[in-house]
Amino acid sequence: NAGLADVDPEIAQVLDQELSRQRGTLEMIASENFVPRAVLQAQGSVLTNKYAEGYPGRRYYGGCEYVDVAEELAIDRAKSLFGAAYANVQPHSGAQANAAVMHAFARAGDKLLGMDLAHGGHLTHGMKINFSGRLYDIASYEVDPDTYRVDMDNVRERALEHRPKVIVAGWSAYPRQLDFEAFRSIADEVGATLWVDMAHFAGLAAAGLHPNPVPIADVVSSTVHKTIGGPRSGFILSKDEAHAKKLNSAVFPGQQGGPLMHVIAAKAVAFKLAAQAEFKEKQERTLRGARILADRLQEADVADTGVQVLTGGTDVHLVLVDLRNSQLDGKQAEDLLHEVGITVNRNAVPFDPRPPMVTSGLRIGTPALAARGFGDAEFTEVSDIIAQALKQGADADALRARVQKLGDDFPLYEGLEQY
Ligand code: PLP
Repeated sequence: NAGLADVDPEIAQVLDQELSRQRGTLEMIASENFVPRAVLQAQGSVLTNKYAEGYPGRRYYGGCEYVDVAEELAIDRAKSLFGAAYANVQPHSGAQANAAVMHAFARAGDKLLGMDLAHGGHLTHGMKINFSGRLYDIASYEVDPDTYRVDMDNVRERALEHRPKVIVAGWSAYPRQLDFEAFRSIADEVGATLWVDMAHFAGLAAAGLHPNPVPIADVVSSTVHKTIGGPRSGFILSKDEAHAKKLNSAVFPGQQGGPLMHVIAAKAVAFKLAAQAEFKEKQERTLRGARILADRLQEADVADTGVQVLTGGTDVHLVLVDLRNSQLDGKQAEDLLHEVGITVNRNAVPFDPRPPMVTSGLRIGTPALAARGFGDAEFTEVSDIIAQALKQGADADALRARVQKLGDDFPLYEGLEQY
């Protein structure tokens, strides 16, 4: 029964160091969050020991009476959060949820229409060396070169040209809401299945602060660990039960073996919390924080340096910074912010002339800082720090001290001695 520090001091040290890193820096990677203690507890539990292939009440293993309760709670809570009639909470990740959706609705070689990766789509929506690009015949739509918004006329043209079996609406790097109704009518016109991947904005939708795609799409996939702030994992929803059988069998045995019951229990906890008033309040702070950041980066002193905000603002939890007219590339800007203690990721902008390892953009998100308790005043301060860090000749030590103060004022996992 020896603890981790005795059994494996090297890994114990990694966990300690990572906890200190999370506490001592400001996390602004748009796809990250801090899970509540209750989620950590459920995930780090004895449920990891249990095999439970199958679904509640229909398992291929004995001893599932308690994990069945956990999975049923997770299913019921996911359905109620998004008004769905069907939920599958077994996908180990967003990518596996997406693989299962494609497995259910398309055969190898079928045509799939998704958002171009270079314009904000996800790897699983058709990138060449991802399973999606290797198994399916991919067509892509893009953002408009002037507005940087998804151009629904372009989506319709591509759909009419390619007659896809499945159309996917969803993104990893896009600062606006998609028009799900317009996607629906295009899908209907060409006889395609409409699949929405809400991985990024699911938390906003759960809080009623973003359109909910569930009533409109045929199927919706998501992660649990981005704006929802739950364990790293995925799930699938549908407005009715018409596709339940094929979706269930696409997840298991189609894509996966035994479900991760400790993660499913943690999903149940996250979905319970996401139905509460505090969650909505946190999502409101998330959105306001992103708007404050977009506004600050468009003030004259920053704009003069050539730093631009794609689409001129945001409707969601992230801001896309366009550095094509500035002195910095994405890698340099990411490093400058890292130096002052702010973690972001460089990100290609649409029509980016630089390679993916360098890029000309940054993706900056507010969910993790909102989870830490940041409100308008703190988001204003961090936006100001970012704005100054991106300027030439910034005093990195002074900025780092301001970052440190914000971190100290909003302690993370207070009272948690170790990981
Ligand atoms: N779908 C979208 C839109 C995403 O942004 C992501 C993650 O970045 C995923 C799916 C995949 O999630 P995971 O990293 O859990 O496989």
